[in-house]
Amino acid sequence: MHTFFKHHSFWLHSALAISTLALGAGAFFLWRGHTDLVAIRAELGSREQSITELQEKLSSTEEERNRLQNLLQQAAAENEAFGKRVETLASSVSLLDKLSKTDRELLQKYSSVYFLSENFIPDPLVPIDADLLARKDANAMIHGGVMPFLRSMMQAAKADGAPLLILSAYRSFSEQSAVKSGYKVTYGAGTANKFSADQGYSEHQLGSTIDFVTPEKPASLVPSFGETSQYDWLVKNAHKYGFVLSYPKGNTFFQYEPWHWRFVGVDLATRLHAENKYFYDLDQREINAYLARIFD
Ligand SMILES: [Zn+2]
Repeated sequence: MHTFFKHHSFWLHSALAISTLALGAGAFFLWRGHTDLVAIRAELGSREQSITELQEKLSSTEEERNRLQNLLQQAAAENEAFGKRVETLASSVSLLDKLSKTDRELLQKYSSVYFLSENFIPDPLVPIDADLLARKDANAMIHGGVMPFLRSMMQAAKADGAPLLILSAYRSFSEQSAVKSGYKVTYGAGTANKFSADQGYSEHQLGSTIDFVTPEKPASLVPSFGETSQYDWLVKNAHKYGFVLSYPKGNTFFQYEPWHWRFVGVDLATRLHAENKYFYDLDQREINAYLARIFD
């Protein structure tokens, strides 16, 4: 019994010692674990803080970027608006410049109460290409701004099988007077006034008006020109080159002159063609709006 107890006490002590060791080790490892945990938490905490700091920096950078982007957009918009203003201003200036260099007489309606000054001479005045003339030695002249339109139109008419020739173009005031007195002699004063009134002749003094003939009848201006394919071609196409018929059949301004075509610019001629109107139908104020762009 005693031995047993002794023996037993040995085991008991051994077990106690082992348990104590185990507990100690456990506590040690727990303590180590806890220490690690604290360190990890601290590390995590500082990282979280860095992340927060970085996020703050990022968002402030984003704000800054957005602010700069807004400024840039605003500046671009202002720049564009400014550019447009400059453009508008420049086009107004160029329009005014053109207007100042364009003779307003070119789009003037003439009548028995309003006609061209005898001192008016178109500027510039250039010779017409000889191959366009009915009389090659005629030495005919025209306004320099009109010449390219006239040439293009006659080339197009020829290409379409409706060849035209020019019998007369620019006529100075003294030439007009000579022609008029010539008519007076031939037809008598009454007829001459109707045939060559100041109105129609003023248009020739402008240097922008042409009397056309056909190669078949190159010598004279006759109402039968109105029945030719050349006349039909002009009615359909002349507006594309800026020319209009001044005195159509049945007009109230002057006698019918199918051969007499006046340059008024492509814009105005196209409008008149589209609205089936004639130059003398429009109000002078309306016509004046087309002056600056007459040679465009
Ligand atoms: Zn004429």
